[in-house]
Amino acid sequence: MSLLHVHDLYVEYETPAGPARAVNGVSLDLDRGEFLAIVGESGCGKSTLLFAIAQLLSYPARMTGGVVQFDGLDLTALKPEELRRHRWRDVSVVMQSAMNALNPTLSIGAQLADVCRAHTEWDDRQIADRSAEVLSMVSIDPAHLKSYPFQLSGGMRQRAMIAMALLLEPKLVIMDEPTSALDVVAQRSLMRQIHALRERLGFSVLFVTHDMSVVSHFSDRLAVMYAGEVVELGSTRAVFDDPQHPYSVGLMDAFPSLLGDLKPLTGIPGNPPSLVEPPPGCLFAPRCPNATDACRTTRPELLSDDSRSVRCHLVHPLEVP
Ligand code: SF4
Repeated sequence: MSLLHVHDLYVEYETPAGPARAVNGVSLDLDRGEFLAIVGESGCGKSTLLFAIAQLLSYPARMTGGVVQFDGLDLTALKPEELRRHRWRDVSVVMQSAMNALNPTLSIGAQLADVCRAHTEWDDRQIADRSAEVLSMVSIDPAHLKSYPFQLSGGMRQRAMIAMALLLEPKLVIMDEPTSALDVVAQRSLMRQIHALRERLGFSVLFVTHDMSVVSHFSDRLAVMYAGEVVELGSTRAVFDDPQHPYSVGLMDAFPSLLGDLKPLTGIPGNPPSLVEPPPGCLFAPRCPNATDACRTTRPELLSDDSRSVRCHLVHPLEVP
């Protein structure tokens, strides 16, 4: 059984123009110890999907359908108090900006201690020992338990958030663009650290990013999202070596590679569609260089071939009656 099973998940935002469907029938599974990256442009629904999985959505967003099972447990059926028991202990979330997620008025040690007191019966000694241990794990000197967030660099703050996420040894760590505020060197170092910790501790990672190059060497599988839908899902290596959906190809061409031949970077022309009044047919058709008349009228399904799933009529041609 997968650690995480998401099936046919829908999330809508209430807007003055009507409901905007930010997550549109997403299904995915995550195995124990696996690293699944979700990539796509800003506004494609990837962060909303993470928040829905973690049951952290708030108005004007709401889940309008679907299943989220964690370790066999239906998270959507749990009461807030029951959910709180599972947060940090079983599932923890690392937010995009540690500066916003950490409390600026409390030291790092006090914030780690708060999590321990809320979820364990540990005494002060045990809390201090474990707090020092997790900070060391992310290469922060335990002397910084006394530091306040503003006294740490951006990279250290993100690592402190990861230390907090690992405090109670959860089975799943959900990460929402944790490296986006960092420079390239700090990004790389943080990704290496997450990779090493995952190998050592065995937790699963669900990782959202708009920058495919961040996860290219670290994720096991990759889900490419566009306009609230998963358009391609497969092993990271396979998707990088041979992207099949035209949007994945466009994303790949938009980021530089350190290896291989030099090639000019190209963007994807146009903008994502309205999520309030999406076009009929394929949602990528207005921007797709391969769009046909059938693409503009018939919505493609996400269909699987071996271990790759792709939502495109080019890859899975429509059957002519
Ligand atoms: Fe492009 Fe058609 Fe494939 Fe959509 S279904 S991505 S429009 S080729």
